[in-house]
Amino acid sequence: MVRTPDLLRISAGAIYPVSGPVIQHGAVLVHGDGRIAAVGPDQEVPRPGDAATVDFPDAVVLPGLVNVHTHLELTVLSGAIEEEDFFDWIRHVRRAKQELSPEQLRASAEQGVRDAWRCGITTVGDTGDSGAVVDALSRLGGRGVVFQEVFGPHPDQAAGAIAALETRVAELAARAGSTVRVGVSPHAPYTVSAALYGRVAELAVRDALPVALHIAESPAEVALVTRGRGPFAELWRGRGIPGIETARSPIAYLERTGILQARPLAIHAVQTDGEDLDALCANDCGVALCLQSNGRHGHGFPPVAAMVDRGLALGVGTDSLASVESLDLFPDLRLVCERAGLGAGAALRLVTADAAKVLWLDSEIGTLEPGKWGDLCVRRLAPGIRSEPAGLARRVLQGGAEDVLATYVAGRCVYDGRADNNPDPVRHSRT
Ligand SMILES: [Zn+2]
Repeated sequence: MVRTPDLLRISAGAIYPVSGPVIQHGAVLVHGDGRIAAVGPDQEVPRPGDAATVDFPDAVVLPGLVNVHTHLELTVLSGAIEEEDFFDWIRHVRRAKQELSPEQLRASAEQGVRDAWRCGITTVGDTGDSGAVVDALSRLGGRGVVFQEVFGPHPDQAAGAIAALETRVAELAARAGSTVRVGVSPHAPYTVSAALYGRVAELAVRDALPVALHIAESPAEVALVTRGRGPFAELWRGRGIPGIETARSPIAYLERTGILQARPLAIHAVQTDGEDLDALCANDCGVALCLQSNGRHGHGFPPVAAMVDRGLALGVGTDSLASVESLDLFPDLRLVCERAGLGAGAALRLVTADAAKVLWLDSEIGTLEPGKWGDLCVRRLAPGIRSEPAGLARRVLQGGAEDVLATYVAGRCVYDGRADNNPDPVRHSRT
């Protein structure tokens, strides 16, 4: 069990609330219930006598970062899967995962939660099917939306898959801690039939479940969906799965199944055009941008500038450590900036306020405001930064995970980078 934290008052050289201008010499007061009580200039924020106080004079306090697409149960596969071809790579990942014991999955997920905290990430949008991440976040007190995956490429599997999913979601929700929300994830067009997408849509809309799905990621997926060709189509034929009813594009295919009505988070959305983006906008869907992962697999890049122009809700995700080297969001964020010509302030919203919206958590996290959770990321700044607040966002954007001095979830320190090199941040928590 995670103990309710004491009253906490953090002061710093600068506070970057995202919801308002930078506050120089500011402070954040987090109430005993884990919610923010006050944010403002240091001299205006109350100093209760019983509050624990921490001062970071050469640092900026940001809202805890939000990584909208992870697979934390695969943390143990970091660097282990080397195939160049995506079709071979994804089959290798499935095989390697099947060989992991429940204990290995549990340890892998817990390591993933700790790695995220070390990078200043306090909330994840995680997809997986073992349930290990629900347990890891609940046990350690991390925050996240965990999308339970469902598979079934044969239409005859739809009824059984949806019944099993419904039972599984109820089980996971019953054992999830208060910081964890359970959603659903029909995995991808090459593992999910149109019929199953339709059934998942009905379930998600009925129970108001958040949905995330991998879509428009690889050319191999496009070949299956638009022409019924390519390696996934061959695999289906070999297994006696009926051929796909082709569509103009992966997004058009999804639209026909009804799943867009559940406002899914579209993970990747690389192989998309203007018509696809209009459909995502019309259905109020968010997009998880995973540019490093897309680059690693040679899939190209999503049309980020066109997405920004349309006002699509966007967040940044790293994808799994089987695809990328680190959960640090900043290399991905800098790639997004380059491709979309975004300013640093708008970029930082993609890992805070905008990302929270993508996960349907914007009333709870994503900015530093009274009433929201005391989820904080404290990042080192060079001395003197306090005199140039206009450049602060730019300076933050150039940094990396090594600049994270501390991470707090609901006012509880889950990573203290000042203590030592911190191989196990949980040791230093206030529990
Ligand atoms: Zn993924």
